[in-house]
Amino acid sequence: MTKPEKLIVDGKRLDGRGLNELRPIRFKAGVLKRADGSCYLEFGGNKVMAAVYGPREVHPRHLQNASRAIVRYRYNMAAFSVEERKRPGPDRRSIEISKVSREALESVIMQELYPRSAIDIFVEILQADAGTRVAGINAASVALADAGIPMRCLVSACAVGKVDGELVLDLNKDEDNYGQADLPVAMNQFGEITLCQMDGHMTEEEFGRALDMAIEGCKKLHQMQRQALIEKYGEMVSPAEEAH
Ligand code: UDP
Repeated sequence: MTKPEKLIVDGKRLDGRGLNELRPIRFKAGVLKRADGSCYLEFGGNKVMAAVYGPREVHPRHLQNASRAIVRYRYNMAAFSVEERKRPGPDRRSIEISKVSREALESVIMQELYPRSAIDIFVEILQADAGTRVAGINAASVALADAGIPMRCLVSACAVGKVDGELVLDLNKDEDNYGQADLPVAMNQFGEITLCQMDGHMTEEEFGRALDMAIEGCKKLHQMQRQALIEKYGEMVSPAEEAH
């Protein structure tokens, strides 16, 4: 698409959303038979599959850590996921995204329970439409829970951008291409920010507001992730609640 004259008209974005609205989002937990845990996610035009294996033996063995599980995260874009064919295999971008996404999730995984083992997370982007790294983190978090990996809580992620001088939640592809800034954020349920990157420019005041918008977006995503797990496993009752 050529650059539209305006991306926001009368307070509405070109896809009809308000400034503070997420795209349509649908999680489905436990969709792959051979993975220990999995999640399929549609996040606007993004289609993402996450698969988790583990805790399992580490190969090669010299990577083992005697006191905790190692976490490995592979973000991969399918060749057919983008308009211009993506050359298969890792590149600088996917290596960076794999690293920051792993770090975004590690803080909630109880790695100390599984010394010498590995938890492997695979994220396949089947269709990309801006915001794939945050989509991958959301799906991976649900897949980890589906695999029964002990976690302190879930991690949720979304991006806030600046378009036509306005802050908007969850950029679509045109907004990402022609906007002025993109701020992907991940947050755990304790309110700790576990990923914060930025492309482009914002003032300090805008950055503060953008972070608040991202936090609100993450809270909404958390509800959807929780719902996807309830759909598969039913309402969880904690032992304390059960005693009453
Ligand atoms: N993209 C693409 N080809 C590539 C890499 C990215 O078409 O090789 C598109 C894709 O739609 C992606 C968007 O550019 O979602 C934005 O990429 P970015 O690196 O900002 O990461 P993302 O927003 O997906 O986390």
